[in-house]
Amino acid sequence: MSASTLFYILLIIIIIVHFIDSILDVFNAKHFSKKIPHELADVYPKDEYQKSIAYKKVNFKFKLITSSISLFTMLAFLAFDGFALLDNFVRTFSNNDILVGLLFFGFIIIGGEIISLPSSYYQIFVIEEQFGFNKMSLKTFFVDKLKNLLMLMLLGGSILAAIIWFYNFTGPSFWLYAWGLVIIFSLLMNMFYARFIVPLFNKQTPLEEGELRTHIQVYAEKVGFKLNNIFVIDGSKRSTKANAYFSGLGSEKRITLYDTLIKDLEVDEIVAVLAHEVGHYKKRHIIYNLILSILLTGFTLWLLSIFINSPLLAEALGVSQPSFHIGLIAFGILYTPITEITGLFMNMVSRTFEYQADNYAKNTFNAPALIRSLKKLSKNSLSNLTPHPAYVFMHYSHPTLLQRIKNLEQ
Ligand SMILES: [Zn+2]
Repeated sequence: MSASTLFYILLIIIIIVHFIDSILDVFNAKHFSKKIPHELADVYPKDEYQKSIAYKKVNFKFKLITSSISLFTMLAFLAFDGFALLDNFVRTFSNNDILVGLLFFGFIIIGGEIISLPSSYYQIFVIEEQFGFNKMSLKTFFVDKLKNLLMLMLLGGSILAAIIWFYNFTGPSFWLYAWGLVIIFSLLMNMFYARFIVPLFNKQTPLEEGELRTHIQVYAEKVGFKLNNIFVIDGSKRSTKANAYFSGLGSEKRITLYDTLIKDLEVDEIVAVLAHEVGHYKKRHIIYNLILSILLTGFTLWLLSIFINSPLLAEALGVSQPSFHIGLIAFGILYTPITEITGLFMNMVSRTFEYQADNYAKNTFNAPALIRSLKKLSKNSLSNLTPHPAYVFMHYSHPTLLQRIKNLEQ
């Protein structure tokens, strides 16, 4: 294969993936005004439902515009040998492979962040604001961005540096060492995310004394979940949207409830949501997800090790001197169709887990309370009651509200 053939293959992959994604969005949009299934007739009052349709339409149009802009930016960058220019530029600073690689990705990430800043501002301070969801101040917005960027530089940067170092020293078998490092890193992240990363962004407090705590205590004792593993987080600092999640391993396991969830739901509905999260823990979903993602990472790194040595990858991007970072970019683009497929697979697994957690809540607490809570949460986040099945298949990590209610009513 010649370098120019590979260049066109890269372009075609980027365009096709964008095209499929947009088609699914359009299919989904065609379903926005579809008749509501009778099981969901009581989710929204009529005027609220009109508002939810408007919200969906605004988001659909916004995504169509932003994704087209990023497609054209990417294509223009490729057409004008952007990666080659950047590679030459960072090489003026250093000859060290690791430093060059870090600078290369550093510029790409900061450049991407600057380009996407207006759209992420618009999403929060215009769209979310208009529909009454946004609670974030401009300061929080920028401080969040800065913290995320610093964390990415620190954690992502050290992992990248280590992987380039492995590559320089061990050649094609670098992937085994890289895999080992990523496994250790994911285990640590899973264990300590709530303890060390979440506090950088949010306040977490133990459950307050009161009616809710008493009710939760009764349920928690029944299923053998420790009450001091339940925390309340100040989600209201950023948005009115509510959530709850289970995270962590072993002694670090915890259930986190958003303060917005506690504000929006009745006591038995909150216990039902908690029961669903306990279900994730009892069914060991975190561990299965961790194993799956470790296997997937191993496969990706192994495949990368086969391609990375080929000078063709660098030539396709117009770069004369092959390097790990240039190979990684070309490989990343070649790999996107596989990412789409693995993403689809992970969503399928996740939807199965959601049914299991719902069933656990049904069996150990009660189904009607969970159904009421799901309906309220859907209404309060103006969520889509009539998504297109193809869109659900591809993008949904949770079954639709209708599917969950039907399963709970069985
Ligand atoms: Zn869940």
